[in-house]
Amino acid sequence: LRVERLVVHELAMPLLAPFETSFGRSEVRRFLLVEAQADGLSGWAECCAMDAPLYNEETVGTAWHVIRDYLAPLLLGRPFEHPSEVSGWFRAIRRHHMARSALESACWDLYAQAVGQPLYRLLGGSKDRIEVGVSVGIQPTLADLCRTVEGFLAQGYRKVKVKIKPGWDVQVIGELRRVFGDIPLMADANSAYTLADLPTLQALDAYGLMMIEQPLAHDDIIDHAQLQRALRTPLCLDESIHHAEDARRALELGACRIINIKVPRVGGLQAAKAVHDVCRERGAPVWCGGMLESGVGRAHNIAITTLPGFTLPGDTSASSRYWAEDIIEPPVVMDPDGTIAVPQAPGRGYEVVPARVARYRVRCEALRA
Ligand SMILES: [Mg+2]
Repeated sequence: LRVERLVVHELAMPLLAPFETSFGRSEVRRFLLVEAQADGLSGWAECCAMDAPLYNEETVGTAWHVIRDYLAPLLLGRPFEHPSEVSGWFRAIRRHHMARSALESACWDLYAQAVGQPLYRLLGGSKDRIEVGVSVGIQPTLADLCRTVEGFLAQGYRKVKVKIKPGWDVQVIGELRRVFGDIPLMADANSAYTLADLPTLQALDAYGLMMIEQPLAHDDIIDHAQLQRALRTPLCLDESIHHAEDARRALELGACRIINIKVPRVGGLQAAKAVHDVCRERGAPVWCGGMLESGVGRAHNIAITTLPGFTLPGDTSASSRYWAEDIIEPPVVMDPDGTIAVPQAPGRGYEVVPARVARYRVRCEALRA
């Protein structure tokens, strides 16, 4: 198989409701879709880099540039026997994992369709349903937060993750425990704290959280190890883990006990499998985080979550969590038991609807070998 043509689409899709984290607030999601074409088939994947370099160093603009000027020339026209080869072609490019992930993941989808297999099975997954959690952004008031969480629990979500930041933390978690009791609950700080906040983070220990995600610096594993020794609650790393070696070092150092695997953050599906394998060998559970993906990114997240080490519910919620109308058919639907059925059709298992892509598209370019 060789990619003959690569189409890069930039979309701007309005979110159903604004999403706020310790980085800021989003109302419209700008992102890239890549479409890798070969033999009359289209492999699709999403580049989830944000507008601004606030989650990591990448942006929609840098991803566009790196894909068009550096990655596409390495991909176009080059034959592969199996998509696991593709990430190696990008090895000379430093970082830009989200841009790399988009092209690599599109090749997996393309190949899965060519061989008539569902993507999840090609990746080595075996579950036919995945468990789903929901990520809740920072809300204007505690009452708003409780109303929002109540709605999601009623829909069946199996894990509630709330975003925290200094001043929106212990009181918030305490209130959720008071109102909702012993629900599966976790907090994500997106690096909003330092070791000077140890008393606050230790106060969270009283609430039996499943984990606290990335409390300290985005590029740290040393201070996280010190913090983990001072807490009962497991720490989970997100931003600090860029590849399997980071995962190995963090686990060996005791910087966390759980890892949030985001396929784009680590550079693609092959890399995500490698992080999964390192964690599994060391008995550390993993789960799949989200980046406000459209249905295309969501489909890839569902596929990777079928691997056996993904034992905790992920953030891959239903399309309706974020979008009035997703760009795929059928939309991702969560059943009332808080699970999503893994599609059994070849490839990603959800059809991309061209008219909807066109409706939200703001820029598009076709690249050839
Ligand atoms: Mg996170």
